[in-house]
Amino acid sequence: EEKKSLNFIEQIIEEDLQNGYKKEELKFRFPPEPNGYLHIGHASSINLNFGLGLRYNAPVNLRFDDTNPIKEESAYVDAIRKDVEWLGFKWEKECYASDYFQQLYDWAVKLIKAGKAYVDSQTSEAMAQQKGTPTQAGTSSPYRERSVEENLELFEAMKNGKTKEGEHVLRAKIDMASPNMLMRDPVMYRTLHKPHHRTGDAWKIYPMYDWAHGESDFIEEISHSFCTLEFLPHRELYNWFLQQISTTNDFVPKQREFARRNLSHTVVSKRKLAQLVEKGIVTAWDDPRMPTISGLRRRGYTPNSIRKFAETIGVGKRENVIDMSHLEFCAREDLNKTATRVMGVLDPLKLVITNYDEAKEEWLETENNPEDEQAGTRTIPFSREIYIEKEDFREEANRKFFRLKLGKEVRLKSAYIIQANEAIKDENGEIVEVHCTYDPKSRSGSGTPESKRKVKGTLHWVSIKHAVPAEIRLYDRLFTDATPDAHKEKDFLEFINPKSLEKITGYVEPALQKAKELEHYQFQRIGYFCVDQDSSENQLIFNKTVGLRDSWAK
Ligand code: ATP
Ligand code: MG
Ligand code: MG
Repeated sequence: EEKKSLNFIEQIIEEDLQNGYKKEELKFRFPPEPNGYLHIGHASSINLNFGLGLRYNAPVNLRFDDTNPIKEESAYVDAIRKDVEWLGFKWEKECYASDYFQQLYDWAVKLIKAGKAYVDSQTSEAMAQQKGTPTQAGTSSPYRERSVEENLELFEAMKNGKTKEGEHVLRAKIDMASPNMLMRDPVMYRTLHKPHHRTGDAWKIYPMYDWAHGESDFIEEISHSFCTLEFLPHRELYNWFLQQISTTNDFVPKQREFARRNLSHTVVSKRKLAQLVEKGIVTAWDDPRMPTISGLRRRGYTPNSIRKFAETIGVGKRENVIDMSHLEFCAREDLNKTATRVMGVLDPLKLVITNYDEAKEEWLETENNPEDEQAGTRTIPFSREIYIEKEDFREEANRKFFRLKLGKEVRLKSAYIIQANEAIKDENGEIVEVHCTYDPKSRSGSGTPESKRKVKGTLHWVSIKHAVPAEIRLYDRLFTDATPDAHKEKDFLEFINPKSLEKITGYVEPALQKAKELEHYQFQRIGYFCVDQDSSENQLIFNKTVGLRDSWAK
């Protein structure tokens, strides 16, 4: 009966265990290419692989798939490491495909000697033309029957940088008539006279993905190598290469595929995210509008919320687009349990409490988090002049407006019941302040009958004298379209939302003066906010993570 709750990946593993795999043989890896920052799509793969590690008490390697020196940098390695760690996962070993360059080279020599690989000296265009079509066999390269000696000589010359870039490639000799185009003598090595972030100038040839991935899995004794669906046709080649290098007694890894997860109103592709950074559309990879793990962290997402997101969307066999509102739901759910409740006013309207002594101030007790008994209380200052939100006052309104209107009462959260008496306007008729009176016996928690009086609305507020101004960064979707990169006739950059960031000045209670980077707060009645990394005691900066309710619901 437990079977029902297993996803198809877990089912594959369970079947393998029933068919003779030992539990100790299970081993997984997460294999990012260090050519950009991790994004929310990677979170699915991380959660899958490390989740299996936890479930089966099996090791999981963090493997950098660093076979393309043109786009890879050690800064990306550092960022990836930081993000996986922040998500709360521990890897067994930190591995690099580049650590296997010598072994891969040795195996390639072995293939050449066995007549299963050859050096091709044609242009890539010529090779592409000879590939044929899925229904029509390809034609053999004129170099396909080169002698082993010549192949070995040329391959060594390529390795030592004695040949020009692009002059030769090493190809596997498989089957130019295979219905699987990837089996038609795929390229194993290309010559690139470029330095590598780890091996420096040691290598002038670099292995292709297909000739590195399975072999790395083999070296690390990975039992199950999970990748996304576009690699399904590569599986045959994955197996063919492994067959060439393994003996019958070897434990051979299996590749299995799962569907990519996409997120609405954004793009999850390092290449496209890199363009947003390069073109200055966002400030950096960790811009809070980015769907990168680092952007989400800076925006105020918690590791729990991202893991929960990955967990609930699960793994599947069909690619799909998950609505952004689901990710936001996961953030709200987690932050609701953990974020300290504070008061901040984003669009201030001044109230003067005319019967409150001008010289007086009081520090009133308020709960830090009603969802968490351990969170305790703090005090907030109250005085004659306070700010409330502009939208929380109307001179007149119908009975459904449970906020402040002339002649009516509301409660100020953790403070007093007030009544609005007069709206003071400037020469343009704009309300500049509202005069109110308070009921001195109505203080919250004082136990008096007046404090228990029921009034319809409760408003958040800050004492003007004590309030701290803060830069508040409000975010909107980065793209105006739900699937910006799914349009054939339009580039995804055409759907950039020009209003994805708005900076305003708000006023927050003084307890926030010392708020630290990455701390999470609920600004009551507004949403969740996180202290930005650029924030300081002199200039507080908050990023709005998400509103309290789904403002996108139709
Ligand atoms: P990108 O196109 O963003 O560069 P990638 O697949 O080339 O993605 P890798 O660094 O190779 O990026 O990815 C590491 C692992 O994460 C791979 O196993 C890959 O299949 C997986 N992965 C990447 N994007 C997604 C996604 N959107 N959903 C699920 N898994 C993903
Ligand atoms: Mg990849
Ligand atoms: Mg990629």
